[in-house]
Amino acid sequence: MDAWWQVVVTAPGEATEGIVNFLWEQGAVGVIEEESPASTPAVRAFFPGTTDADDLAARLRDYVSGLRALGFRVPLEATVSALEDPGWATAWREHFRPRPVGRTLLIAPPWDPIAAAGRHTIVIEPGRAFGTGQHATTVGCLERLEDVVDAGAPARALDLGTGSGILAIAAACLGIIDVLAVDDDPDAVENARVNTEHNGVAARVRCLVADAATVDTGTTPLVLANLLAPLHRRLAGRYADLVAPAGTAILGGILDGEADELEAHVARRGFAPVARLSREGWTTLELRRSAHASLHPRA
Ligand code: SAH
Repeated sequence: MDAWWQVVVTAPGEATEGIVNFLWEQGAVGVIEEESPASTPAVRAFFPGTTDADDLAARLRDYVSGLRALGFRVPLEATVSALEDPGWATAWREHFRPRPVGRTLLIAPPWDPIAAAGRHTIVIEPGRAFGTGQHATTVGCLERLEDVVDAGAPARALDLGTGSGILAIAAACLGIIDVLAVDDDPDAVENARVNTEHNGVAARVRCLVADAATVDTGTTPLVLANLLAPLHRRLAGRYADLVAPAGTAILGGILDGEADELEAHVARRGFAPVARLSREGWTTLELRRSAHASLHPRA
């Protein structure tokens, strides 16, 4: 990809977290928070050249007026501009450093695949599908995954909404021998497939284009799903079909404020809450399906 779009939003610090989340949701491949005591905080985000910049600018304007309506002081500036400087690709790389996650994982870009003692290095090329390992929802899922596997690796796992394949690859690296990675976006599945090869786990991870709402895999002892809360709500009944009795669901992409309600909603489908963690405003839930699933008719 040669050309990129750059978005810069200067805004008061209390609006930064929301702006960062918004930009990720719009498909940014990199989001950088720039803070210095001397100037107003800015958020800088990069979008692939294939992005419709007018459409992005319109969504940005809507979002900014939403912020004003919520009483935030207006961002001083919100711009979308083309970024064709070839040097930028290198500059951008500076922001993707190998990142240790949990106790045993390290997420690294291909240009910096350092080996770290005692850590499984997972190499992901930023900029294709969602799941570079930089986002708090991915980190949260990886941390829960690590703990679940530590307590005894299940034989199989299902990753719903695999994006770059990062969770499926981590599951395989951590010792799960049969992983199915599903996404309804064919580009993401292709990217996941390439990433499983780069990481030497293609034999353990199958990648499939399918909608989580209809995929028919039978039951699996561990289901990972880093999706958004409204989709989890709709899929809650499906989780009861897809997670084996006494199996585990790790659900990410849930804003902290949505966690209680969503957890209760899934629990009503025959799951018990086991653990949760919060990273940068995003909650990851871990639930266990009842061993006696038939005692919990689906509501
Ligand atoms: N698992 C990765 C990516 C999460 S982003 C990580 O944790 O970082 C969510 C992914 O879910 C996207 O790739 C999106 O294409 C996919 N997705 C969204 N709705 C879906 C659905 N109904 N069925 C399957 N995949 C879906």
